[in-house]
Amino acid sequence: MQNIKNIYLDNSATTCLCPAAKQRIAQMLDVYGNPSSLHGAGLAAERELKAAKQTVLRTLGIRASKDEDLRQLVFTSCGTEATSLALFGTAYAKQRREANRIITTDSEHPSVENALRRLESDGFEVVRLSTVGGAIDLSELDAALDRPVFLATFMMVNNETGALYDVKTLFDTIRKKYPNAITHCDAVQGYLKCKFTPSSIGADLVTISAHKVHGPKGVGALYVSPSILKEKKLVPFLVGGGQEYGMRSGTENTIGICAFASAAESVFSGMPKSVPLMRELREYCAQLLSKIDGIKINAPKGSCAPHVLSVTLPDIKSQTMLNFLSNRGIYLSSGSACSSHSNKTSSTLLAFGLDAHSADCTLRISFCEYNTKEDCEALANALEDGVKTLVRIR
Ligand code: PLP
Repeated sequence: MQNIKNIYLDNSATTCLCPAAKQRIAQMLDVYGNPSSLHGAGLAAERELKAAKQTVLRTLGIRASKDEDLRQLVFTSCGTEATSLALFGTAYAKQRREANRIITTDSEHPSVENALRRLESDGFEVVRLSTVGGAIDLSELDAALDRPVFLATFMMVNNETGALYDVKTLFDTIRKKYPNAITHCDAVQGYLKCKFTPSSIGADLVTISAHKVHGPKGVGALYVSPSILKEKKLVPFLVGGGQEYGMRSGTENTIGICAFASAAESVFSGMPKSVPLMRELREYCAQLLSKIDGIKINAPKGSCAPHVLSVTLPDIKSQTMLNFLSNRGIYLSSGSACSSHSNKTSSTLLAFGLDAHSADCTLRISFCEYNTKEDCEALANALEDGVKTLVRIR
């Protein structure tokens, strides 16, 4: 069999493990104690867990010098769980009675959108701001502030279009009118791609996920601000043995958590190089692809993240092109990996302003620091072949 080098351009779906994470997994295989156990093996695992927490907090710009400070990070099983904790946890805390309106956008990840649908069925009112062209109109936000807001949840970077939202301005605008409003940011696609700290974006709660930053799958975290903790504005979603300072019961995934911390530390220190590199690759790729007959680049109106590029093919279903590219060892995705199994037209791409036909012909290319210009050239050549070869639909 021919030995082909695969080209992986689906880094918004997940990333490969970095060397630091792999090394840490190997080391942690022997740290088998339960961090809740009070004997030596348990204490050794607890020490690792605390060090991992300190490290991840550091990548969020927070120095945790005291044990108490570690409460600001809750490790979860994924970004989705961290968001469920944020949204259900604040909704069901006592303070919810002040108001029941939640503000968000019409193109959030399903982990936010489907949680909000459940809250709607429980009587909360959800206002979704439009995101045409990947931008949020502040006058629409102003209009939504006619009644008290209890919670605002905005993603930092859209996972399908790469649009980068100015969450700070959105949160500040809401807080100006409703100082008690709780702010949550789904930063899964922005973490370690965009420079921020929870306070620099005005977020009380921030969701992050390990597998998007070269850590293992099955680990995420929720940042929780000291004021949310002090005012008890968050109640746990998973209850049981009281791990994670009572915020997330269940024996901790010590191997995954420690590998997450090592990956985060390594990627964080590499950001001055990796971020401009990803942006350069994105721009180079856009330049190459825009020369192919009929391909359209879906550039967000405002700012965009360094690593996501959305393109629409000339009348070729994205799934058909994905198969063609996959047979050549080039991996990318249609709108997003999470909705690709549902066979539905991406609501995010429709919200962006694409018609249903164009949305069904759209590919997402997403980069990481291990990609090269040669990867972009190989993709451009294969796409050019694909556009010539594949039967067009209408
Ligand atoms: N939020 C965004 C913007 C995402 O892109 C994803 C995953 O694709 C998630 C949340 C969910 O993260 P996880 O896969 O860790 O549950």
